[in-house]
Amino acid sequence: MAIKKNETSAVSRALLEEEIRQIVLKHFRSFYVERSLHEVFRRVSPNVRWVGSRDEYVARNKEEYIGHMEKELKNVPYGCKMDVLTADCVMLSEDCFSVSGEFEVRIPHTDQIVYFCMRFSIMLAREEQDFMIVSIHTALNDDARAYDAGDVNGESAVRVPEDFRDHDYELYDSLTGLYNLESYKKAVKKYLEENPGKKYAMICTNITHFERVNNLYGIVRADRMLLDLAHMITSFSKGAGICCRSIADHFLLLTEFEDEDQLKRDLNGMCADFRKTICEDYSDAAPRLGVGVCVLDDPGESVDKMVEHVNVARKAIRLNRGSPVIFYDPRVSQKVEKVKEIESSMQIALDQEEFQVFIQPKYDLKTNCISGAEALCRWIRRDGSMVYPDEFIPVFEEDGFIVDLDYYMLEKVCQMIMRRRKEKKPCVSISINQSRILLKDNQYVARIADILSRYKIPSEYIELELTERIFQDDLSEFAQTMSELKKLGIRWSIDDFGTGYSSLNLLKELPVDIIKIDKSFLDETETSEASRVIIRKTVELTRELDKHVVCEGVETESQADYLRNICCDMAQGYLYARPMPMKEFEELLDKETGR
Ligand code: C2E
Ligand code: CA
Ligand code: CA
Repeated sequence: MAIKKNETSAVSRALLEEEIRQIVLKHFRSFYVERSLHEVFRRVSPNVRWVGSRDEYVARNKEEYIGHMEKELKNVPYGCKMDVLTADCVMLSEDCFSVSGEFEVRIPHTDQIVYFCMRFSIMLAREEQDFMIVSIHTALNDDARAYDAGDVNGESAVRVPEDFRDHDYELYDSLTGLYNLESYKKAVKKYLEENPGKKYAMICTNITHFERVNNLYGIVRADRMLLDLAHMITSFSKGAGICCRSIADHFLLLTEFEDEDQLKRDLNGMCADFRKTICEDYSDAAPRLGVGVCVLDDPGESVDKMVEHVNVARKAIRLNRGSPVIFYDPRVSQKVEKVKEIESSMQIALDQEEFQVFIQPKYDLKTNCISGAEALCRWIRRDGSMVYPDEFIPVFEEDGFIVDLDYYMLEKVCQMIMRRRKEKKPCVSISINQSRILLKDNQYVARIADILSRYKIPSEYIELELTERIFQDDLSEFAQTMSELKKLGIRWSIDDFGTGYSSLNLLKELPVDIIKIDKSFLDETETSEASRVIIRKTVELTRELDKHVVCEGVETESQADYLRNICCDMAQGYLYARPMPMKEFEELLDKETGR
């Protein structure tokens, strides 16, 4: 509202002062909280003067003011909160008011931490119809320097640096308000020197598929995720609690701990929480939180070394199938080197056909004949050495290369079936492992259909395997894709059945044809009554649901006998045959079928 001249009766003076006071507070709030520069500049006179902490001019006119604020905004963390401590307005004359006071800006997510506290004195003068800011005097309050982090359940959560200085914004990450890497290292060093004799660990986070979050949801929402993660990590810390964001999705935290197993459980819990509370909003990108950990067992070790080690552990998260938490040890370094090597050679290896299809037959338990088979990938290097899937599949799943490999495996299997059909040789249905991200590919159904039709393969010869572990979130989108392929006659098999979280749900929600009981149950049949019951009941259940059951990892005659007794359909395992090169499998198939 424009304030008109000559309206300042004694009664309205207080109202006017309040209005001017609000204008000033809005000015700061627009900047630090709403980040609306347009709103900030609207109230600034062309002749504004701004004097800063050291009694020097920050700006001598509106142009300089704009320049400074634009630059400064980049240093202000997103999501700051502003608390006004005092703000008083005095009318100097009808055309001139002065507002002075003090406010605090708080770092997002860490309500306890004051980013800075600023004293100000602002003069507004009437210019044409509106009151405009003509002079500003600001000073950062020194007391705000080493604000203690405050208490979270009796433990201090996060610390701000004690050497906080006016406009030392370079110390901080502009998005989260946490330290940046350099100031973090200094703070850690200092803290460890001053607080020796305790157990410390450094952790470093990684969000798998964070680039996908960026691409699918945009930077603003991706930033939102980082802010939520910042909150999660800072609330995790115990004791020391020094935290920074080094780059992108990598947060580092120094925390105290008492028991390594407990620390591991707590970190696993944090990763699970991330999935439950944060991932939901980004489900298309399927982000996952992982944590690399480095326990500080040598007090003499440099902070740089710790940071290096924790980063190695972070990079190794992807090698850690199953658990999102990995502790550093020197072997982890070797693993990380190996990953680098794998990634630099995988494309050439694919082009030069170093990936080979090995096949492991499945046997009908009643007839003891081959009734199917599974394609398993082997990487045969040029020097003849063989790399097993456990080494490279997790890497490929992480970097997306698995998509290429899975289509390649399907093509190779189809080529073999086509050739055998032409030669009028017998064929059995062959199952091919499918990775999770394949199902997220928009072109998936079309590509599978295309491959089958190119090689003229009747769909009954192809079975697709999905490990139960991939089903974590919404089943309905999987159900949709699976149904589309099922319409083409493709059969679906659930691998590693019984190891995930929702085995029974899967049977209900997904168009599944075959269940593969995980090897772990079989391993325990001799010692565990529970495992025996689970296998028996799973077989009964799937038969009643009109599905087939395969048990994998059958290594002994007694296991095979047991499975036969409970009417399991098929068995796969070393007892019958190991995975073998395609050519050998074909010879075996020919021999068994009397060719
Ligand atoms: P999986 O699909 O559960 O495959 C079964 C694994 O058990 C295979 O390991 C197989 O060699 C092994 N196995 C079979 N019978 C026995 C037995 O009697 N005893 C024991 N101890 N093990 C047995 P492999 O070939 O090393 O494959 C490991 C995993 O890598 C597979 O587990 C699968 O998840 C993945 N994988 C392999 N090839 C591919 C592929 O082309 N694409 C994808 N996406 N994943 C693949
Ligand atoms: Ca499998
Ligand atoms: Ca399996």
